[in-house]
Amino acid sequence: MDKHADQHKAVEQETKAVETAGAPSEDYILQVKDLKKYFPIKGGMVSRTVGQVKAVDGVTFNLKRGTTMGLVGESGCGKTTTGRTILRLAGEKTGGDVLFNGQEVYDLSAKEMRQLRTKMQIIFQDPFSSLSPRMPVGEIIGEAVREHGLVSKAEFNDYIDHVMDDCGLQPFHKDRYPHEFSGGQRQRICIARALALNPEFVVCDEPVSALDVSIQAQIINLLNELQEKRNLTYLFISHDLSVVEHISDTVGVMYLGNLVEYGKTADLFKNPLHPYTKALFSAIPVPDPHAKMNRIVLEGSIPSPANPPAGCKFHTRCPMACERCKQEAPRQIEVEPGHYVVCHLFDQK
Ligand code: SF4
Repeated sequence: MDKHADQHKAVEQETKAVETAGAPSEDYILQVKDLKKYFPIKGGMVSRTVGQVKAVDGVTFNLKRGTTMGLVGESGCGKTTTGRTILRLAGEKTGGDVLFNGQEVYDLSAKEMRQLRTKMQIIFQDPFSSLSPRMPVGEIIGEAVREHGLVSKAEFNDYIDHVMDDCGLQPFHKDRYPHEFSGGQRQRICIARALALNPEFVVCDEPVSALDVSIQAQIINLLNELQEKRNLTYLFISHDLSVVEHISDTVGVMYLGNLVEYGKTADLFKNPLHPYTKALFSAIPVPDPHAKMNRIVLEGSIPSPANPPAGCKFHTRCPMACERCKQEAPRQIEVEPGHYVVCHLFDQK
């Protein structure tokens, strides 16, 4: 059996253990298994590696085609690095598997990776800094289309018009420059640039957090419409839980490089189980001004990923921590179908 088949088999076995939505493994566009990404800390006269920042430290999940997974957690928990490592934008991974349509992304040659790039796109948080100020919008959207030869010269203009129209942009916008647009329109340009390559999977890295609240809903609705029309799959990274609840089918909660809870959005928001998820979700504002908020305030700050606590990484801040939590890292438990939590409180062992 060759290397790819071995990897596929291993992830299939994991899929059975970490079945997320009752789907067979071929329905998963993305299978992430025990993904790790460490960054070396250099020090000393000869710049030796003296430590490692464990930004992503064993993340496992499967993503069903045509769905959205929200990834939430405090700043510095590893959400963005997870997204970038999946897309192979953060250098080599430290460990684990990333299978896209059953293919290990990190086994691909530079040429194969270049082709795959069209299928896996990213939308960034800050639409202004990710757009070249010296290029007209039509060029920004069409540059990679031309580079990859996705359409003929004769079809090019119509194709770009069509993509722009899908994203709520007008043909005359093609000759304008990014600074002539509002924040919301700039994000539409970024989305059009990503969609012009006809991707299957898009990492949306805080795509609305730099936008005015009134504009956020428009962009979220646009992403929803595009998903339906093009059967797109999103990994939606955000610290805004209300937005994540609205857009996601499944949600993963990250803490210090690990997924601590994962499941269907309704299950997680109705019944958060992990003490960290409970604290995080307790801060969601309630629309009723008379309703009492039972906010759980966590003690201390998030520890350094260069020196994470032993045992359960959350034990230094967890109100439920016991002796076992300081010694032993908890394992992932399926508490209800498709709802996973990594905490000793749910482990009957
Ligand atoms: Fe808290 Fe222990 Fe559960 Fe970690 S394993 S979340 S410290 S109760």
